[in-house]
Amino acid sequence: MQNVEIFRELVSSPGKVIITTHHKPDADALGSSLALAGYLKKKGHQVNVISPTDYASFLAWMKGNEEVIVYEEQKVLSAQLIQEADIVCCLDFSNLARLNELGEIVAKSSAKKVLIDHHLQPDDFADFMYWSTAAAATAELTYQLIEDMEDTDLIDADMAESLYAGIMTDTGSFKHPNTTGNVFKVCADLVGKGADTAKVAKLIYDSNSVDRVKFLGFALSERLTILPEYNTAYFAISSDDLKRFKSQTGDTEGLVNYALSITGIKFATLIVDRSVMIKISFRSIGEFSVNEFARKHFEGGGHRNAAGGKSELTLEDTVAKFEGLVKEYKEQLSNTIKTYA
Ligand code: 5GP
Ligand code: MN
Repeated sequence: MQNVEIFRELVSSPGKVIITTHHKPDADALGSSLALAGYLKKKGHQVNVISPTDYASFLAWMKGNEEVIVYEEQKVLSAQLIQEADIVCCLDFSNLARLNELGEIVAKSSAKKVLIDHHLQPDDFADFMYWSTAAAATAELTYQLIEDMEDTDLIDADMAESLYAGIMTDTGSFKHPNTTGNVFKVCADLVGKGADTAKVAKLIYDSNSVDRVKFLGFALSERLTILPEYNTAYFAISSDDLKRFKSQTGDTEGLVNYALSITGIKFATLIVDRSVMIKISFRSIGEFSVNEFARKHFEGGGHRNAAGGKSELTLEDTVAKFEGLVKEYKEQLSNTIKTYA
């Protein structure tokens, strides 16, 4: 973690700030971005949040959502704003490739770059890095940065709820091993700032469409394969499945966790044919590093126990490749068996 004085100097006089985050932002990515935007606005900056793509509708309640610029929908404006920016803050990703096309524009910009993140192996592009893999969420780091700046007085209830949403989701509702004492301390502070935890949980987890719930039932009964010998379970979802249940952005989020919830399963995967490419989510319990697995075989990465990647093959071929790899990892996958974690 770099000295916060570098950041203090960077934001010492009002300027034009862009905040950006990874494509298909989740609650941590969007929540941290919007809370940081709220903070920097209060410090007198002109702030715009640019997301590479759209995101799930269950995040739309966050304060500032209506001002988010979606790069895919407003490319010219986004590029212009980044060119004019004094500072570009990059939140919740460690590789510029996670911004798709927008990554090149950010890389070329002469603005000072700030990275606030908790993913493994960050690219070396930032002038100020507030980075720790020990943090459960970028939202936790964003809170800490504001705390290091001695500015927690500027955190209002809306910012607190956006940050709380990021921590709640990235800890799997305080279930994952990343749920440290500091997580509870930060969340207690956020509640003190007015975060309504029941409201946030309801808005994120219990705002399903009928189609999404039916899709869940379908995926669980028809699209889940268990490989008991390898302590592995995976879903393979076709583009026709997505169409049949009128799938919206975010509708497959969390699905992979059902595979991981099965007793004995240590490695769970969700393979989805998104037409333009196959998108894959990996989760594990224990030592088996899905970050390494995703990096090595599926052009991805993330954390040890939660990562993502992609494939240019067909769905069928991707599944075949995945099953082949699982067999190669048999020893590791059996060795990770423990009663807990
Ligand atoms: P999810 O499966 O929920 O999309 O992502 C799980 C974790 O892996 C998140 O921390 C996410 O940022 C990261 N991740 C997802 N997809 C990719 C990818 O294609 N590349 C990299 N480097 N990380 C990813
Ligand atoms: Mn995160």
